Amino acid sequence: MSLESRSADVTDHNDALPATEASRAGLDFIRTRIHDDNVSRRFEGRVHTRFPPEPNGYLHLGHAKSICLNFGVAKEFGGLCNLRFDDTNPVKEDTEYVDAIREDVRWLGGDWQDRLFYASDYFAQLYDYAEQLIKMGKAYVDDLSADEIRQWRGTLTEPGRESPWRNRSIEENLDLFRRMRAGEFPDGAKVLRAKIDMASPNLVMRDPALYRIRHTAHHRTGETWCIYPMYDYTHCLSDSLEGITHSLCTLEFVNNRELYDWVLDTLGVYHPQQIEFARLNLTYTVLSKRKLIQLVQEGHVSGWDDPRMPTLSGLRRRGVPPEALREFCARIGLARADSTVEYSMLEFCIRECLNVQAPRVMAVLNPVKVIIENYPDGQVEEFDMPYHPEDASYGSRKVPFSRELYIERDDFRLEPPKKFHRLYPGAEVRLRYAYFITCREAVLDEAGQIKELRCVYDPESRGGQSPDGRKVKGTIHWVSAAHALPAEVRLYEQLFAVENPNVAPEGKTFLDNLNPHSLRVIRAWLEPALAQAETGRTVQFERMGYFCKDKDSLPELPVFNRTATLRDSWTKQEKKAG
Ligand code: ATP
Ligand code: MG
Repeated sequence: MSLESRSADVTDHNDALPATEASRAGLDFIRTRIHDDNVSRRFEGRVHTRFPPEPNGYLHLGHAKSICLNFGVAKEFGGLCNLRFDDTNPVKEDTEYVDAIREDVRWLGGDWQDRLFYASDYFAQLYDYAEQLIKMGKAYVDDLSADEIRQWRGTLTEPGRESPWRNRSIEENLDLFRRMRAGEFPDGAKVLRAKIDMASPNLVMRDPALYRIRHTAHHRTGETWCIYPMYDYTHCLSDSLEGITHSLCTLEFVNNRELYDWVLDTLGVYHPQQIEFARLNLTYTVLSKRKLIQLVQEGHVSGWDDPRMPTLSGLRRRGVPPEALREFCARIGLARADSTVEYSMLEFCIRECLNVQAPRVMAVLNPVKVIIENYPDGQVEEFDMPYHPEDASYGSRKVPFSRELYIERDDFRLEPPKKFHRLYPGAEVRLRYAYFITCREAVLDEAGQIKELRCVYDPESRGGQSPDGRKVKGTIHWVSAAHALPAEVRLYEQLFAVENPNVAPEGKTFLDNLNPHSLRVIRAWLEPALAQAETGRTVQFERMGYFCKDKDSLPELPVFNRTATLRDSWTKQEKKAG
């Protein structure tokens, strides 16, 4: 699976699409438009996209959708995709974010080759364009405060009021703008605005700000600038300078497209096509950077890469393979109307992917001791077990077996319910790849808790094979008590307890929706081969789920994160609870 994979089934045909060959072929609306532009030679058949993150936070699942789309489209159409840092706000941005974003995009499979750009690289060029607009009478320096500008902008039903500074002469505007740049005025004293139309039905077009004063050092340009260009002005010109053909962005920019087009047309420069698509929303998840920053800064999680975070670094640390995210992005498809994707869809993709990729091993998460009375004390046998039941190329490892074992407490019942095929007094089960054992007795402690299980094994059933055709229904996993490695296992649940954590009742915030049980730490016992597991490696603990070795591991105490359960257990619990 690669970035090439794309949705064939989930396309949105609500709006009237041109009934071209492409849309009939099942392409989504963006790919259909690109196909049509290629057919009409609008961009000489070129396809050039970009992924433009602002380095003011870590990338999350929403960004994954945009990455897969932009890099995916480029690859499918034989085009190119740039990585561009949209770094126009020196106050919130940081090189820590730049580095993390590069790592995450690469991890997800985005390949920008030698085309890594920064909007800040264009500051000089953008400044020249701004002077050009002033000289054309299309931009002016305004002395109104930010508050006044907002108040004077009007509403959807009322036109805005023109600023008293709107009709300054070109010479005066040029002089003031140069002095803004020279640092003569404090923050907020003046802005450069486009001179468009204060009565436009589109509020974005009511003389939007192009430049503001910010006496703040920039993480790349240092003290060179004390005026910084606004997003809407920067983005279209960066796209233009890079020769982008299709500028794919999320729906909240629909109204900004008119300004995107105005800037490029007014300056008469190369003009890419902006196309909007619905952003990703996911149940039980927040995908707003502002909220994610708050979770990190206030310590509700251990950091940006906390395995419960919807960030790419969090998902990676939890053990999610990039292929699973690409598959997820392909399945959710593209639409032109907002909707919310079920979290279980993501888990489904993670399981599907790990079911193929993850080696199988044995670990006991909640142990009860088994003593095999007829197995010689001190004897140890090794069983050769395949790492993958369906793929011999994964190889195998040796697993020691001895008189004392651990099995899951849950695999034993003193009083078994109907159809319970595991262990109970008198019952026989198969220990995975080892032997058949029969439980003779459960020994209780003073508190009435099961202390150990006294069992006997059938030496004829070596390798877990029936010696005489008799059947045992249950197969359970185990570890040898003397050989098992202790480990810390971190069991994760949803970070939020409600389906839409973004809405909170009066007087509460999204933080009140946090799930108090999102992390449970337990002590577990692993088969000894796991001493060799690499950090970041995701394996299947047979019957228990997928687990990934964490960077917090110590030589004497490895730490494993639960990546996913084997089945969709939590939504079922939710439904029961609801
Ligand atoms: P936020 O609103 O959380 O601050 P943003 O959109 O401002 O996010 P950027 O760094 O500007 O974050 O985003 C980079 C690119 O990723 C943009 O093209 C944006 O449209 C896209 N993107 C961000 N969030 C989502 C999302 N939830 N779904 C799809 N695309 C997204
Ligand atoms: Mg943004």
